[in-house]
Amino acid sequence: MPTLPLTVITDPLCHRHDTGGNGHPEDPARLTVIAGRLGQSPLAPMITTMPPRPAERQWLTTVHSEEYLYRFEETTLAGKSYLDHPDNQLCFESYEAALLSAGAGLAAIDLLEGGATSRAFCCARPPGHHAERNLALGFCFLNNAAVAARYWQQAHGRRKVMIVDWDAHHGNGIQSAFEEDPEVFYLSLHEHPTWSFPGTGWKEETGLGAGKGTTCNIPLPPGSDDAAVMKAIAEQVEPALSRFVPEALVICAGFDGHVADDMSGLSYTTALYRQLGHCAARWAERYCRGKVLTLLEGGYELNSLAASVEMYLTGLATPEP
Ligand SMILES: [Zn+2]
Repeated sequence: MPTLPLTVITDPLCHRHDTGGNGHPEDPARLTVIAGRLGQSPLAPMITTMPPRPAERQWLTTVHSEEYLYRFEETTLAGKSYLDHPDNQLCFESYEAALLSAGAGLAAIDLLEGGATSRAFCCARPPGHHAERNLALGFCFLNNAAVAARYWQQAHGRRKVMIVDWDAHHGNGIQSAFEEDPEVFYLSLHEHPTWSFPGTGWKEETGLGAGKGTTCNIPLPPGSDDAAVMKAIAEQVEPALSRFVPEALVICAGFDGHVADDMSGLSYTTALYRQLGHCAARWAERYCRGKVLTLLEGGYELNSLAASVEMYLTGLATPEP
């Protein structure tokens, strides 16, 4: 089956963000297993690997406060072991790694807009979707997707940006960045907040003020499977896309909804991620000149993570059957 070229943005420094061992789930091995799997994959000949650049201050401050950025950097330089909550373990190199993780999206957008690729996957860490303007949360320090959306708007003139987040958890930080903004649509499928971190993402949260209607939360009960996701996509995600008509598409790809991943009670199989890849490809072709940016969020069970990333990229790069 013919496949489209894929660009994977990654950097060795992203492995040096050390979360302290002791079984911390957001571990550098996540990137190692993905790289290993993709290297052995039938997709390998279609993959070009590119480096990110550190996200520039002017783009970080579209989402985060100066005070927070200084506080994050100083915390790493002071040799402290976490920021804001013990979940958010860090080390001396973590600030630089986070700049590259956020900058991966910016480098990818330049490649997409320059015509070098149409499918870009940022295989970087730390992840981003829980990070708030002034707060690190849930292993996230800089909100990679929110920074990417602002960059796409302001550096490349794509006014209407759609962010589809199918990590098992609600991306509270993305929602709060854009909930009053009618030009960035945040849509999240996640385990119901009654059972799941961080406790936000109720279906009644639909945006505020001018942004009313451009936030959509689809909470799923524990045990929800592939069919539940595909039903929600057909009944809620596709109609939201056709109403909004995005000019740019960001996928927040978390793989912690997999049945083997104990960070959620969701029961997705590896095969779902191929379907999600096909969906992203279809939306990109329909609305965004074929271009789509995908950012790695969660996914902590290493075998299912590597297999699911490969499946997702296979779906993204091959035409639908
Ligand atoms: Zn997650």
